[in-house]
Amino acid sequence: MSARAGIVVTGTEVLSGRVRDANGPWLAERLLDLGVELAHIVIVGDRPEDMAAQLRVMRDQGLDLVITSGGLGPTADDLTMEVVARFNGHEMRFDAELDATIAAIVAPMARRWRQADPEAVAAGTRKQATVPDGGAVLQPVGTAPGAVVPPAAGAGPTVVVLPGPPRELQAMWADAVATAEFHAATGGHTTYRQHTLRLFGIPESEIAATLRVAEREVDGFDRLEITTCLRRAEVEVVTRYEPDAEQSWDALLDVIRGRHRDTLFSTDGTTIDDQVAKLLTGRRIALAESCTGGLLAARLTERPGSSDYVLGGVVSYSNHAKESLLGVDPELIERLGAVSPEVAEAMADGALSRFDADVGVGITGVAGPGGGTEEKPVGYVCICVKTGDGQVLAADPRLPGDRAEIRDRSTTVAMHMLRWLLQGSS
Ligand code: ATP
Ligand code: MG
Repeated sequence: MSARAGIVVTGTEVLSGRVRDANGPWLAERLLDLGVELAHIVIVGDRPEDMAAQLRVMRDQGLDLVITSGGLGPTADDLTMEVVARFNGHEMRFDAELDATIAAIVAPMARRWRQADPEAVAAGTRKQATVPDGGAVLQPVGTAPGAVVPPAAGAGPTVVVLPGPPRELQAMWADAVATAEFHAATGGHTTYRQHTLRLFGIPESEIAATLRVAEREVDGFDRLEITTCLRRAEVEVVTRYEPDAEQSWDALLDVIRGRHRDTLFSTDGTTIDDQVAKLLTGRRIALAESCTGGLLAARLTERPGSSDYVLGGVVSYSNHAKESLLGVDPELIERLGAVSPEVAEAMADGALSRFDADVGVGITGVAGPGGGTEEKPVGYVCICVKTGDGQVLAADPRLPGDRAEIRDRSTTVAMHMLRWLLQGSS
């Protein structure tokens, strides 16, 4: 059995939906990486009783580890440390060294807020330097220290206490994992292996059918824990298993490869964005986007180093912009319409020549709502990918979904077209 964990996200701003929870999903992925099984994520407001109640539920469920986020600030209503200490049977203690550390971090900030009352700042620092008397203290990344707190006596989960701001929580995570307390709570359990397969251009039902075949053909199929999901128009198949079920995994991979050779594009965990970034190394790309409003450019420039291969793009909604900025022939737009495969290609040509690029992409479509006609309904998108030496790949799919989904799927389709074209020509 692997260790089992729960996450308690605190904060009335998160509970109310004003701030979208970034910590639960981030921690979920880290736990997966470590082979720790996640049983629950709960969100509670800033009421200490509500947090204590969730901790008790998780203890009753026999969890080995609980991670909390938030409620470590300097004000009296940030009570997570106290709640966790009481829950695991510890007193609170003032840590003078920690107090000095926090005071040194806060001093330059306090100088900047001129109205800051030194008394109040010192009280806040003292509060944050008061930690459970037991377990490990995690040094502050912002001003708040964290902690890893095992039960003082008897059974129960070890609680990892982390700050709410995502940047601070993420920076503190490695220190938490490195503590003896964390290891004691999660070690001694079987680790799992996990693989992610990604497919594009296939409905989820096809994978379901393949898994039914695999169930008959793969020895030890029931030792594989398989989940499939649809994400950004791709199908993701995540398989988890104990190390001695490796042969069953190999056999499953053979079955999926055999049946989905054309659509299986990733077996090593890489995403389409990783693959396209790699293929673009040594080339220069330019974009001409209409209905996607620059989203493809945004997606291509998400990773560091993308300025080596992304030259830029034009967002051309109006016909005039298509003509003047990309050199699209007005007669073409007049005759075939702004949303047409021909105009998409002319836009790709414009991107290639105006930016002096090696690869150009043109996207024009009806993202709706209301913009469609019978012939060109909402979701009809024309995409053209072209290289400077004249290779072309064009598609004009009808994409499902609302405006945001159509725009997002358009970028995914364009990414896959880039992969096809660049792979063929490398
Ligand atoms: P401090 O009060 O010292 O900043 P804290 O540990 O008390 O730290 P919170 O008060 O809970 O943290 O959160 C501070 C801010 O961090 C929130 O206002 C919010 O902007 C952000 N934040 C907190 N929790 C989350 C979360 N789960 N997801 C995204 N952002 C969060
Ligand atoms: Mg706070």
